[in-house]
Amino acid sequence: MQKEMTTIKLEPQRAINIYDLTLPQLTELMKSWGQPGFRAKQIYIQLYRNLAPSFEAMTDLPAALRERLTAETKLGVLQLVQEQTADDGDTRKVLWRLPDGNVVESVLMLYPDRATICISTQAGCAMGCVFCATGRMGLLRNITPGEIVEQVLYFERNLRNNGFNAAHRHDHITNLVFMGMGEPFANYDRWWTSVEQLHNPQGFNLGARNMTVSTVGLAPGIRRLSTEKIPLNLAISLHAPNDELRSALMPVNRRYPIDELMAATQEYIEKTHRRVSFEYVLLQGQNDSVELAEQLADLVKGMLCHVNLIPWNPVPGAPLQRSHRKQIESFQNVLLERGIACTVRAERGVAIAAACGQLAAVPQPA
Ligand code: SAH
Ligand code: SF4
Repeated sequence: MQKEMTTIKLEPQRAINIYDLTLPQLTELMKSWGQPGFRAKQIYIQLYRNLAPSFEAMTDLPAALRERLTAETKLGVLQLVQEQTADDGDTRKVLWRLPDGNVVESVLMLYPDRATICISTQAGCAMGCVFCATGRMGLLRNITPGEIVEQVLYFERNLRNNGFNAAHRHDHITNLVFMGMGEPFANYDRWWTSVEQLHNPQGFNLGARNMTVSTVGLAPGIRRLSTEKIPLNLAISLHAPNDELRSALMPVNRRYPIDELMAATQEYIEKTHRRVSFEYVLLQGQNDSVELAEQLADLVKGMLCHVNLIPWNPVPGAPLQRSHRKQIESFQNVLLERGIACTVRAERGVAIAAACGQLAAVPQPA
């Protein structure tokens, strides 16, 4: 009888995504390849300042090194699957395929005075907020620092080249918000590495005050952020001023109830002296009454903060309604009358499901 053959399936060799490496890590890699110390810095500048489209284009590197980089590393792993525009080209949503078939989305919003990108920090999200399309997907996986950074570089490269030929032309990104798919503090380490990479003055050099992170309210993440050296802006998704309502809308509130969230926020303010912003999505008949506006005012009174009201953007299958304009105004007035800075967020990209909380996507085959 013939002996049965067993075939061993080897894991395909996973090449390093060069955008996953920090400058010290890149320096280590170059050292291990026997390269002089300054090579890492040269590559870093090519990646983050020149936005080189290929290793071949890094003509200040020796040809042999360019070849080795091409053979053994990857200059990015995101595959552009779809690009959609709205608002006369001033809003642009890109769907990315990750190497394992999962997907994330990013959105560029051009205004007369700024070019803002909204970036994903996870594929899907585990937090399950009832009003959010991403929450309905569940968490697919955490994404890597490189996968976060690459989303940004794509838009920067195109703005630099032709401004996407949009009406409001900019030649660089002025603002970055981590408000796409996912909860940044649930992927803290990888997300933070991406912040350091984007902020690094030797590379991309995006100012801390031009970056904003939004959290569902993971108190340990807020505390950790207050110890970080890069002073980016913090937005906190509050959405309800009492535990009963907040837990119904946001399951995370059972783990970090309002008292704990506000204590962590107050600590953050005291430590950093920075104004935080509270986000409050307005859902008709759920959290938009004048009484709740009064409760909200009492909750945040005296804090160094700003309240950002967000008219809810439709999510398929969610049994919710956006508040009426009049109700939004009344809600805002309660806060303003009590001396609390409060604005209503202008919506963008609703027609292409690119607005806040509308990002959700299905895995894509290769
Ligand atoms: N996970 C983070 C950041 C991503 S969500 C967070 O929750 O803060 C960015 C913002 O959009 C949050 O304030 C979120 O509550 C809000 N949001 C979610 N779904 C929304 C929807 N359908 N309409 C309007 N805003 C929504
Ligand atoms: Fe996740 Fe934020 Fe959506 Fe909540 S609102 S499910 S935390 S992405």
